[in-house]
Amino acid sequence: MQWSRAFLPTLKEVPPMLRGGPEHWLLRAGLVASTSGGYAWLPLGMRMLRKLQDHLRRRLLQTGAQEIGLPVLTPVSLWQRLRLPEPEVPPGLRLDLAQAERKTQYLLGGGQEPLLAELASGWLASYRNLPLLVFQFGLAAGSEGASSSRLADAAIRPVVQVYGFHAGPDSLHPTYQQLLQQVENLLDFLELPYWVAQREVSPEYLGHRVVIRLSGEQTEKAGRPLSQPPPRSPISNGSEPSRPEASPGLADRPAEAASDRSEPAGTPLPAEADMFTPPAGRATETYPTGLPPEAGGFVPPLSRSSIGADLEEVAFCTECGYTAVRASARIGGRPIKPVPGALVLAGLTGPTPAPPPPGAGPSQMQLPGRPGQSGPTDSESPSAPPEPVRRVPTPGARTIAEVTAFLRRPPQQFLKTLLYLADGRPVAVLIRGDHQASEVKIRASFGISRLEMADPATVEKVTGAPVGFSGPVGLKEPTPLWADWDVRTAWNVVVGANEADAHLVGVCIGRDFRPDFFADLRMAMPADPCPQCPAVLQIGVGLSAAEAACLPTAQTEPLGLRFHDAQQELRPVRMHRLEVDLGRLIWAMAAVHHDQAGLVWPERFSPFDILLVCLDPEDEAVRRAAWELYQAWQSAGLEVLLDDRDLRPGVKFFDADLLGIPWRAVLGPKNYRQGQLELKHRRSGQKQLIPLADAAAILMEKVRAAKGSTSE
Ligand SMILES: [Zn+2]
Repeated sequence: MQWSRAFLPTLKEVPPMLRGGPEHWLLRAGLVASTSGGYAWLPLGMRMLRKLQDHLRRRLLQTGAQEIGLPVLTPVSLWQRLRLPEPEVPPGLRLDLAQAERKTQYLLGGGQEPLLAELASGWLASYRNLPLLVFQFGLAAGSEGASSSRLADAAIRPVVQVYGFHAGPDSLHPTYQQLLQQVENLLDFLELPYWVAQREVSPEYLGHRVVIRLSGEQTEKAGRPLSQPPPRSPISNGSEPSRPEASPGLADRPAEAASDRSEPAGTPLPAEADMFTPPAGRATETYPTGLPPEAGGFVPPLSRSSIGADLEEVAFCTECGYTAVRASARIGGRPIKPVPGALVLAGLTGPTPAPPPPGAGPSQMQLPGRPGQSGPTDSESPSAPPEPVRRVPTPGARTIAEVTAFLRRPPQQFLKTLLYLADGRPVAVLIRGDHQASEVKIRASFGISRLEMADPATVEKVTGAPVGFSGPVGLKEPTPLWADWDVRTAWNVVVGANEADAHLVGVCIGRDFRPDFFADLRMAMPADPCPQCPAVLQIGVGLSAAEAACLPTAQTEPLGLRFHDAQQELRPVRMHRLEVDLGRLIWAMAAVHHDQAGLVWPERFSPFDILLVCLDPEDEAVRRAAWELYQAWQSAGLEVLLDDRDLRPGVKFFDADLLGIPWRAVLGPKNYRQGQLELKHRRSGQKQLIPLADAAAILMEKVRAAKGSTSE
């Protein structure tokens, strides 16, 4: 490509809100441009996207997958006919199209399983056609409220989607694992550090989210210097890059939600989070992940504000390698299933209350206990003597922050009472003041398919008080009380008084309230025990770039995916899906591979191998020599960008650093007359003079050496 003719606008500045973030470099180096409709990909950016697609296509074809192209629009009626919940897409991606005077509503970039089922169900009806692995390069819708100022959060994003259809777990699971490995190989190839985080929405569920590590607090000393080749996997040197204490405001953000039910404290999950949740109690495949412990790799400093995108929190253990999406990460030392409150309280107080009959569901739940019952006495209970319950006025103080400041007590001495509608029925969830509720865990623990915060009218009806003052003691209506495991030790705590502008202090579990169930209902915190080993969990932050899941049969059966086996018996087709977000990968490349001067592409994945800078295009001899080199190098198989613009050398060098092409070859009048060429390595900054005559051979060798370690 000749720069003088290329649509390659480089910028000196970007809007202040994008300064320092990945968009900063992508915009300035002319890979993308901002339009009123969002980001547009320019030729250099398209070149990178295309390379990514080619790489993935090659790998997927090798795996035996076949490429297809599905329609971009899916009619809403298809979901309705299959009685499936519609995928949540931003309202703007819902289109009413009129065809022959009939209006049909379509979704743009929503889940495409129903279309795929329509396409393939006939073909898959015989076991002879299984397994089937297909993929497509398509578009996916971003989450609700996606911001067009951030490329990673664009409303519509280029993705690759892979779908597998199988007769049973014997074929499903190895293929699923193989595809996940492909994603890992891709990220290793791109030299991006990552986590493969489990999504443990239920014990039977198998799903992973691949998250590019952007924690940003790792020091250069601890990380791998940019000038060194990467380890085979960015999982190597055992350092702990995502130390939560180094990311204030990320891992341990203050409990911003109200002390009560004004909003859930947890990070909201993307809409698809519960799409594949099997019903509680459904049987099956547990899955060894065998994923290696994360660590290592170079992460340049980025602040959350400069990243700006919708980030993912990951809980991980550097000892055993346990890695999970934070909202669903298990915490060590806790029961996996809810334990009846009476059993737990009996353990704390002695064998008083009888356990509820087997199968006691929410409908048979007990009411909160009355004051006067004895408190905990075993080793887990605090040694402080129980205080009497006192009502204290807290005018206008509704949130944990406000009430803690007002009463001058630390947040762990508070209990949040979050009022939810669980499948339409009000429930109260109790969480310690310094913890955050996890809606994923609440749903999974109690088999809830729809969970939402209760509206103010419901709150008022159940508690008799406006939002912000609810507590477990003296609710106006019988309401199930679900407590997080840590609420067991709630002793002399502060709760809402179920009365406007008032709280209760000196409240004790067992004596003043009795939860119906105890379960693991909160987000993992830094230093929580690991669920797999004696070490503790850490919390890191990154960008989700891929999502994989094995769909439970409850999800595939409504799609009509069944097949006749060899005995002519009708059985459900098992299905898995994988989506890799290509736009986010390019974004992450810019986030990870840059320095003060611009982008620094890895040698095996860059827009071009070499930038050939012709310093003085006015000099006919130099210009001709540069042109000949350009032609010769291209014929030799090198990808060359020729900077033949009529600009000052300083401008050209500045742009060369900005673009970050691995090798910069400079041909100027002086060197040319001496038969030499100056070669500069972008990553290390090292320069050398090489003879013009041998330049092609030398460059070929350097490029091959960089790419040789892969199958590229
Ligand atoms: Zn562990």
